[in-house]
Amino acid sequence: MYDLVIVGAGAAGLTAAIYAGRKKLKSVLITGPNIGGETNTTNDIQNYPGYEGPGPELMKKFWASAKKWGCEVQESMVSKISKPKDFVVELSDGKKLESKAVILCYGRERRKLNIPGEDKFFGRGLSTCTTCDAPLFPNKETVVIGGGNSALEGALELSRIAKKVYLVHRRGEFRADEVTVEKARKDSKIEIITNNSPVQIVGDKFVKALVIEDVNTKKRRELSVQGIFSEIGWETHTAMVEGLVELNAVGEIKVDELCRTKTAGLYACGDLTFVPYKQTVISAGMGAVATLDAYRYVSLRK
Ligand code: NAP
Repeated sequence: MYDLVIVGAGAAGLTAAIYAGRKKLKSVLITGPNIGGETNTTNDIQNYPGYEGPGPELMKKFWASAKKWGCEVQESMVSKISKPKDFVVELSDGKKLESKAVILCYGRERRKLNIPGEDKFFGRGLSTCTTCDAPLFPNKETVVIGGGNSALEGALELSRIAKKVYLVHRRGEFRADEVTVEKARKDSKIEIITNNSPVQIVGDKFVKALVIEDVNTKKRRELSVQGIFSEIGWETHTAMVEGLVELNAVGEIKVDELCRTKTAGLYACGDLTFVPYKQTVISAGMGAVATLDAYRYVSLRK
């Protein structure tokens, strides 16, 4: 019987592991091979207090601290979590773990473009986070893909830094708030291209162009750009905790100010929650809050 099972090893999960170690909770961290999570996908962190540099380097530091505090790790995927009395965490290899508390921090998955060049150029001119990576493209030609708030706000943010911003959306209507669309339409650096889908990313070592296709005429053209920002939304996978958590309209887990879900002893932190600001520093903070409250919850039960 564990005191605490932590699911996911990004900024939230590794912080939870550090706090659990310091509180001497009997805990285990369940993770796939990607230790560091979403932060690993950013090459230049400039907004984590006290640190500037590549995301993976920061996550190595988190990981080193977690190990220092005796974090036990099992490399596996969680298939189901239930709470008959205490929590039962079922792993994909069939193993079952029992725990008094569980912290969910396995993040979310970015929607993929599914076009040639996407995997090759990810981190080499292709980014899925305008807020994180826009500063890397001063005076460059760039394109943002998508028609939601992230894409429109991303284009506006980018226009303050880049020389040119194309905004490519596959339909004629935007999902984004009308005021944001209006702002983008008025921005002289932003060129909006609707009814066009991205079909290929081309380049050598780094991105050189995005090929787009008119959805009506099927005519293709190449946009010469050094930066491509795919802002086409995210998917949060919560089937494993169905019934134990409450979700918002877009499937993110609702939590209170202590990262508690609707099930006592079950916490959620970071990008899989409905907290709108998906940032490493915020995930780390939530990991700390959740673990301190899980400690209180476990101690009260003893
Ligand atoms: P989103 O609202 O789901 O929009 C995704 C956009 O990407 C849609 O326009 C969609 O096109 C397009 N898209 C999806 N798959 C595509 C593909 N394969 N190729 C090309 N385009 C594709 O995602 P989001 O903008 O990240 O926003 C997520 C949620 O956060 C929303 O509820 C949003 O309002 C919220 N948010 C709020 C704020 C704010 O309030 N300030 C800021 C950012 C995000 P279609 O329209 O054709 O489906």
